[in-house]
Amino acid sequence: MAMNVRPVPALDNEVNDIRLAAAEIVNSDILPVEDALWGWMSDSANAPNTAREDARALKVEIQDKVKQAGLWAPHLPKEFGGMGLSFMQHAYMNEVLAYSPGAASLFGVVAPNSGNQKILVKYGTPEQHEKWLKPLTEGTMQSGFSMTEPDNAGSDPRSITTRAELDGDEWVINGHKWFTSNGYAAEFYIVMCRTADPDDPGSSNDKMTQIIVPRETPGVNIVRGVPVWGRASSHCEIIYDNVRVPKENQLGGTGTGHRAAQDRLGAGRVYHCMNSVGSMWRAFDLMIERLMTREVHGGEKLESKQFMQGFVADSYIDIQSARLMTIHCAEKMESGADPRTDISAIKIFVPEAMHRVVDRAIQVWGAAGVSGDLPLASMYQSARTLRLADGPDEVHKILIAKNILKRYHAGESWDFGN
Ligand SMILES: Cc1cc2nc3c(=O)[nH]c(=O)nc-3n(C[C@H](O)[C@H](O)[C@H](O)COP(=O)(O)OP(=O)(O)OC[C@H]3O[C@@H](n4cnc5c(N)ncnc54)[C@H](O)[C@@H]3O)c2cc1C
Repeated sequence: MAMNVRPVPALDNEVNDIRLAAAEIVNSDILPVEDALWGWMSDSANAPNTAREDARALKVEIQDKVKQAGLWAPHLPKEFGGMGLSFMQHAYMNEVLAYSPGAASLFGVVAPNSGNQKILVKYGTPEQHEKWLKPLTEGTMQSGFSMTEPDNAGSDPRSITTRAELDGDEWVINGHKWFTSNGYAAEFYIVMCRTADPDDPGSSNDKMTQIIVPRETPGVNIVRGVPVWGRASSHCEIIYDNVRVPKENQLGGTGTGHRAAQDRLGAGRVYHCMNSVGSMWRAFDLMIERLMTREVHGGEKLESKQFMQGFVADSYIDIQSARLMTIHCAEKMESGADPRTDISAIKIFVPEAMHRVVDRAIQVWGAAGVSGDLPLASMYQSARTLRLADGPDEVHKILIAKNILKRYHAGESWDFGN
């Protein structure tokens, strides 16, 4: 079933045109060949020997079409080879791309490269743009983001212990990271390190600094790809053992790493949530398709059963709530109002809603729902993973309660209209 994208009356023509053009490519060029693009990964034992190469050629063909349509790299400014979209335009485009899992990569948006590109745009020097950002955007280089550590709670980046010390013109990095996604393919990692406070050298008041570390630097030891959901992965465990890189590999000023990480995560959470909405949209369409066609004992279609009708209504409510909450949060960010409570709220609500919507679709499809023949099983795992990655639910609940109580203690109450 194709994604039904039509102009949204409240949006301007430019966004509507972008959404329609993106949906045209998703519907005509990606959905019909999803199996050829990604099927070999989930069923490598039965895939023909040429499947990987064929998929690569197909990807290039689709990417060329995307570039010709002017839809390449929606997350980047025009001067860096992207579409130059505003924050809201990008968010509205994301839900369309996420209808087909993996489609975003064919439009030049691949995590963690996309987050790293945005950090490089904002904090990088012209030399760093030339050396790291350009090849990343052209797709000739890969990258990773190395923050989480096995021995410290990743929920709060301030707990990390990886340290970088200046020695002459070089940073010397020591630490132990894991879940550095894309770790094997990456040519460089952006590594979150503790560094001495530049305003108060010698004090114990450490700050965070992000430093670019090429993977081939001596002392970068990839221990393993940590298996995830029972499968091998490229979410890598890495030991940085006396790794030396030039001082100019640091991103932004010394001590700006925490701010940069928040920049990455804040807007990123809205994009992730719009991705989840796109995934839910697909799961919903798949569920309805099955309800309308599957005959059960007695010759009736599944759609005539009340349990099943309940799934339809509950999923509709979940998707609409998740979408509107995310758009409200994005509008608040765009307006310059404080969006922190809303960001935490969507970070909790949307993956949970996705979990429920995909779960119902799986239930309707029966055994096929958990098979590799449909995208539902991988969506289900993504929804569960999203409840941990980029800040787990509980930590965001703590933040919501803190922000709200603070306001009431100050003698105000909450204004749900804003
Ligand atoms: C598939 C995948 C890909 C990832 N990719 C990357 C990547 O590319 N780069 C990277 O750096 N990281 C990556 N991560 C790591 C991810 O961001 C962390 O897992 C996440 O931030 C949580 O940190 P943690 O795993 O250390 O959990 P912890 O911080 O140990 O949290 C465990 C539990 O404790 C709870 N908790 C923590 N603190 C509190 C508190 N103060 N009060 C109450 N409860 C609390 C949490 O809510 C959670 O339920 C990835 C993770 C996954 C699963």
